[in-house]
Amino acid sequence: MSDSPLAAGPSASPGQAAARLERLVRGAVHSPLTHIADLAPRPARCGAWPSWTPEPLRDRLLDLGIDTPWLHQVAAAELAHSGRDVVVSTGTASGKSLAYQLAGLAALEADPKARVLYLAPTKALAHDQLAAVAALAGPSVRPAAYDGDTPPDERDWVRQHSRWIVTNPDMISRGILPRHPRWSGALRNLAYVVVDECHAYRGVFGAHVGNVLRRLRRICARYGASPTFVFASATVADPEASALRLAGLEASAVIDDGSPRAASTFALWEPPWEDAGSDGPTRRSASAETARILSDLVCDGARTVAFVRSRRGAEGIAAQAKRLVADVDPKLSDRVAAYRGGYLPEERRELERGLNRGDLLGVASTNALELGIDISGLDAVVLSGFPGTLASLWQQAGRAGRAGQESLAVFVAADDPLDHYLAHNPAAIFGRPVEASVFDPANPYILAPQLQMAAAEYPLTESDLELFGGDAARLAVEALVAAGDLRGRPAGWFWTHRHRPDVDLRSGGAAPVTIVEAQTGRMLGTVDGAAAHSTVHEGALYVHQGVSYVVDEFDLEQAIALVHAEEPEWTTRAQQITDLRIVSTLRSSTYSGVGVHRGVVDVTDQVVSYQRRRVWTGQVLADFPLDLPPRLLQTAAVWVTLDDRTLRRSEVSEADLPGALHAAEHAAIGLLPLFATCDRWDIGGLSTALHPDTGAATIVVYDGHPGGAGFAERGHDAIREWLTATRATIASCVCESGCPSCVQSPKCGNGNSPLDKGAAVVILDSVLDALAIADHAF
Ligand SMILES: [Zn+2]
Ligand SMILES: [Zn+2]
Repeated sequence: MSDSPLAAGPSASPGQAAARLERLVRGAVHSPLTHIADLAPRPARCGAWPSWTPEPLRDRLLDLGIDTPWLHQVAAAELAHSGRDVVVSTGTASGKSLAYQLAGLAALEADPKARVLYLAPTKALAHDQLAAVAALAGPSVRPAAYDGDTPPDERDWVRQHSRWIVTNPDMISRGILPRHPRWSGALRNLAYVVVDECHAYRGVFGAHVGNVLRRLRRICARYGASPTFVFASATVADPEASALRLAGLEASAVIDDGSPRAASTFALWEPPWEDAGSDGPTRRSASAETARILSDLVCDGARTVAFVRSRRGAEGIAAQAKRLVADVDPKLSDRVAAYRGGYLPEERRELERGLNRGDLLGVASTNALELGIDISGLDAVVLSGFPGTLASLWQQAGRAGRAGQESLAVFVAADDPLDHYLAHNPAAIFGRPVEASVFDPANPYILAPQLQMAAAEYPLTESDLELFGGDAARLAVEALVAAGDLRGRPAGWFWTHRHRPDVDLRSGGAAPVTIVEAQTGRMLGTVDGAAAHSTVHEGALYVHQGVSYVVDEFDLEQAIALVHAEEPEWTTRAQQITDLRIVSTLRSSTYSGVGVHRGVVDVTDQVVSYQRRRVWTGQVLADFPLDLPPRLLQTAAVWVTLDDRTLRRSEVSEADLPGALHAAEHAAIGLLPLFATCDRWDIGGLSTALHPDTGAATIVVYDGHPGGAGFAERGHDAIREWLTATRATIASCVCESGCPSCVQSPKCGNGNSPLDKGAAVVILDSVLDALAIADHAF
């Protein structure tokens, strides 16, 4: 059980993790370690079972070895039991689930008609939680999953008989709410809605889920039910605000963590520079370094998961680690594998079973293993690159640690500005609250389809609009009426079409692209529609389960990529061109010639060519043109302008200016994830010495999703901290003229040219000087 409340087992042998770390760096000329944090153990603080805990439940808990609950579990369960919406925000593996299991199962015991709806962001977590609740529930509860894997003939049974339904926001949106009359029995008696790991709902997905939960509340109210919501989250800075944004509810927060924690060692690791021959020294890639650390740990007998940001990276690292392990002991190489979301269900289950049985010793995984699923026996975790948010970082690091055993976590800095910053600023990781999730439920691109869904479920009334965000909802409804999708009647706004509206919560709207092996017709998996132009274009290298495929044909209309297996010495990287126009300015402040603005922009993107690059070194081998159509994105942006006087004062020459702005833009994009819970790939940027819409030197950073996801807005609000960290990252990098750890970007459409590292620092100093004077404004 991932959230096991079981007390610590045998005591740890002291220094075990530190000794393992020591073995990893033995023999290195320059230690790759930039920081070692010894995280102290924390003693347990226990409470007493609430008086209302049903006797049979208490017995089952005792049978499972849980004799006393921790303080935060009792506090949260008591609040929920009293009918208060509650958000439990405590550490990884702190047993948050027991809080809602206690309240929920007690409610089911007290009222034989009552139901609980449990929502998880991933299927793996849902199945883990299903097993956990089944072990505690009495015979009348019949916990069951209702998700995309549930066979149609089982769905009716679940709806009619299960009283603890484990599902996800996608199924609520597409399966349950559109058929609410059939679900009326369950919805009418809904006692609790549990929203687990709610910090996972961010960006576009978070904005959709925020609206889905509001739709659920509205339909429940129609059936006379007002279920109590329990949110479980990683430790975030402001849990009440997260719950409010996610469901429009004022929940009470429980943050005082009473669970014990075993000692652990958390190391920050920066891959060394090495001589790449003619190109001069380059930093060893985080992937190569992670593969080596993973294989060393496997050979050391440590059960290890390496978390990797991309699917391709996970598969490449697993393949490389297999080879390295085979050099030491060929028998071990079968015990290393890759894991990621997007595998077909049977492939995924087999990997999960292998991990649980211990057949697998080393796994390179995407964040699909970060939440839930039973991998509680890990000795070590390797994080290949910053996973995007501190919540994810702690979640992944927290995966290590057998009961009571000291564990090891190693963060391997990838070659990018944010990772470089973190490796050298441990204070940004340790002793800082995790950022609250950033998303914007009022994004018109998300609100409009959600209001269509809501109106098709039941006509929208004036008071419903308040629930969906007030003015933003009113504007969206007006637009839908004008488009003929909704019609206003005295009883409310009605959906006018015969077909039901539909919306995919997980993508910006583009349909996923299916990958098919041409020769066999076998379906390998899918890629996100928005990413398809740059990942499965003709000629692209696509990796699945450690096997490389080359794309022969990308059929845009059918959304299919046909591939054949091939293991070339190169990978590919798409190149794109971007044009940006400012549509409207929502906020604008100027001081000493430096302007900080946010508003709406139109971005036109076109993938025009791709490069073949040598595996591991990244050396460019050849360029190939592509014939793909441009795509228009209207989104939110933050931009900084510098007027002529400021530029003259900074003494950056006209010739150096484009390189200075471009370098500052790249590093700023790299650092934004530290302030907004986004991924570098969720945002884009553009810089120019003279933008036609501002008439000044301009750096723009924009959200990569239609209507924006709140990231640029967060950047605007944290502009001083953000640009201060950006400047520090560039200035502290020891490279000579710019490298991927400071100003080079892996997704630059201009091949990282021009870039001027030194002048970028000067430009950022000018901006920060102006903002310092304008202290009151920022
Ligand atoms: Zn550098
Ligand atoms: Zn660029």
